[in-house]
Amino acid sequence: MLDIAIIGGGPAGLSAGLYAVRGGANVRLYEEMFAGGQIVKTHRIDNYPGVSDGPDGYALAARFEEHAAQFGLSIAYGSVSDLDLSGDPKRFTFNGETVEAKTVILATGAQPKTLGIAGEKELTGHGVSYCATCDGAFYKNRTATVIGGGDTAISDALYLAKLCKQVYVVHRRDELRASAILANAAKATENITFVWNSVPEAFLGEGKLSGVRLKNRVTGEVSDLATDGVFVAVGIVPRTELFREQIALAENGSVMTDEHMETSVAGVFAAGDVRNTPLRQVVTACADGAIAATYAMEAARVK
Ligand code: NAP
Repeated sequence: MLDIAIIGGGPAGLSAGLYAVRGGANVRLYEEMFAGGQIVKTHRIDNYPGVSDGPDGYALAARFEEHAAQFGLSIAYGSVSDLDLSGDPKRFTFNGETVEAKTVILATGAQPKTLGIAGEKELTGHGVSYCATCDGAFYKNRTATVIGGGDTAISDALYLAKLCKQVYVVHRRDELRASAILANAAKATENITFVWNSVPEAFLGEGKLSGVRLKNRVTGEVSDLATDGVFVAVGIVPRTELFREQIALAENGSVMTDEHMETSVAGVFAAGDVRNTPLRQVVTACADGAIAATYAMEAARVK
């Protein structure tokens, strides 16, 4: 039986794994696809202390993974299902086999929020995307539109501005939520144009995106903006589908924890973007992971 099963291989899960394996725990990390979580979609990370060379998220994730592996963390790739947190031990199915663990760290992260507007579902993958670093290259020398005004939207706009002829940023207010350094850089970029106080009402096109219908929230005016690609960056939702009926969630759907990262179920911890946290950064996810692993080891009585 494992001391600790970590579900999710983003910065939180990998940090928890590093701390647990160095602490002598019998631990395994379970990751659906590839390590890194949301950061693999980030083209440059320049606010993780000590890493000033501004790596892309994929490169930083690879460093995290290598670091944990150096200390012997075992990572299993595949899908977790039938998670049962009620008993002691905790149990789940992984690639058809039952896994038992004294404690579980939930580090399942978050996924992009959708807008729920006409054309969004149909045109996803045909001009509508949620990942600029994954799909930006399709719009080389063309026009792209980013929806949102937070760090993700503005990082995406800066990335796309290097590839695209023209980038529009559509934001529902006239002030950005993004940090000043990103906001100022975007405002100083010639081929980024802001469309303020506007919300998308529909994505246009048959089989392929041709534009976005916008409504100005101040004037009420409706207009169509022609664009080859749209990148939706309106926030994230915690990924809790595996366990949402079994533990206490905050109103926004994230997992409630105490200061030890322990959830409402004894022996079950949560770390990173899935957790109810006021700041979602790589550094805070890593810190959550370290705390969760430390108290999971205590709960599993690892010596
Ligand atoms: P976010 O900070 O929640 O920003 C979401 C943006 O989308 C806001 O500007 C919001 O407008 C807008 N929005 C929300 N719902 C909308 C809707 N239905 N229609 C139109 N616009 C809508 O999300 P995020 O940018 O993905 O960032 C998530 C977390 O990751 C944050 O903590 C962020 O700091 C962090 N992050 C950090 C970095 C970095 O440090 N480099 C990079 C990426 C992400 P309002 O402003 O009006 O609410």
